[in-house]
Formats: sequence, structure tokens, C-alpha cells
Amino acid sequence: MVQVYKIAASYNANAYLIAAKRPILVDAGVHCELALSPIGRIIIPDALEYIVLTHCHYDHIAHATQLAEQTGARIGIHEKDAELLSDDQATVSAMFGVCAPSIKPDVIFHGGEVLDLGDAKLEVIHTPGHTPGSICLYGTKQLFSGDTVFPNGSFGRTDLRGGDPNQLLASIKLLTALDVEIMYPGHGDATRKDVNAQIRDSLRLAEQVLQEPHAL
Ligand SMILES: [Zn+2]
Ligand SMILES: [Zn+2]
Repeated sequence: MVQVYKIAASYNANAYLIAAKRPILVDAGVHCELALSPIGRIIIPDALEYIVLTHCHYDHIAHATQLAEQTGARIGIHEKDAELLSDDQATVSAMFGVCAPSIKPDVIFHGGEVLDLGDAKLEVIHTPGHTPGSICLYGTKQLFSGDTVFPNGSFGRTDLRGGDPNQLLASIKLLTALDVEIMYPGHGDATRKDVNAQIRDSLRLAEQVLQEPHAL
């Protein structure tokens, strides 16, 4: 199992460095200056292969362009969120009082891709609901869950532009089929305590909160 490091988070959103032979950074809300020194202590920054964005929200993407320029990494994002990268509302940049950062992705995911990190592989799973192009990354029983599911039965909000409760329900259901030992969420701490049960709890709660009430 490759080492995963949580890089200092900005705006409360996590960025993870996966220190594989071909290292990748998951999410890039973190300030360039804050990110580069911890990354530089773990890998040669020039070796960074990809910056994978779990979704298009500002707190996860803000500094992707600068980090890509500094490291030479290629930026990857799902096609549905790539379309939204210049939308101030859909990226929630407006909520942060800024314009959408102009990010030009190099790699467009459609879901189902497998990223070869040399000594590990990560599958790109399309998990819409929080945003139309949210993705999770899964490999060697590790799940990078973005803002789709969080520990302790929690899950991402669906009331922002592009959010869809039914899609989120279906996405969480998809994740319950995985065997996860460690979850690295987009916010908060990683967890390794019976993660499959935690995801099942997320599904149960989402079913209660998000499902349309049935007519009697
Ligand atoms: Zn989000
Ligand atoms: Zn977030």
C-alpha cells in the first residue's frame, strides 16, 4: 500500500499526496506556497504526475493551475465538472467572493479509467450528486471520497448548483459495493474504522434524508 499524506488544507478542504512511484495530488485547494514545501519533503515536486480534482468546487481546485505550473503535473477532472470550471456559481467561487479560477484541464475523465501510479493503481469512479462530475478514486482498499461521502455516515450536500439528491443516493449505493479499509474524505480526518459500515450508514441516512417521501 502506498503512503498517503495529507497536505496542509486551505478553506478546510483536504489535499492528499499519494507518494507512489508516479505520485499524484488529490485536490488542490491548498495554497501553492503551503503545499510545495510539504510536497518537497516527500517527493521531488517535478515528479508529480497528476493533480486529480475530485470535483469543481473552489475549495478543492483554487490553486490547481499554479501547482501544475510549479510541478509540471497534469490536471485531471471529470468531463461534467470540466464544463463548469469557468462558472462562478457552479464552482462556488462566488461564495468565496472570487471569480472561478481559469483552469485548463489536461486529462478529462469519463469514469472507469485506471490511473497507473507505477506501484499502485487507482480507479476513477464517477459519483455524481454533490456535483455532476464528482469522482472518487479507489485502489488497494483505499477510497478518496471527495465530497461524496464522509466518515460517520455523513455525505455531501446536494443543494448547491449542479447537486442532485437522486444521483447522490445512487453514487453512495455504488460505493457500498466496494471493500474499503481507509477512507480519505475531502474534509475532515481519514478513517480506517470499519469503513464499509460507515459508508452503509451514509447510504441509510441519505435514504432517509434525500429520498422523496412515498405517497400512502
Ligand atoms: Zn464540494
Ligand atoms: Zn468540499
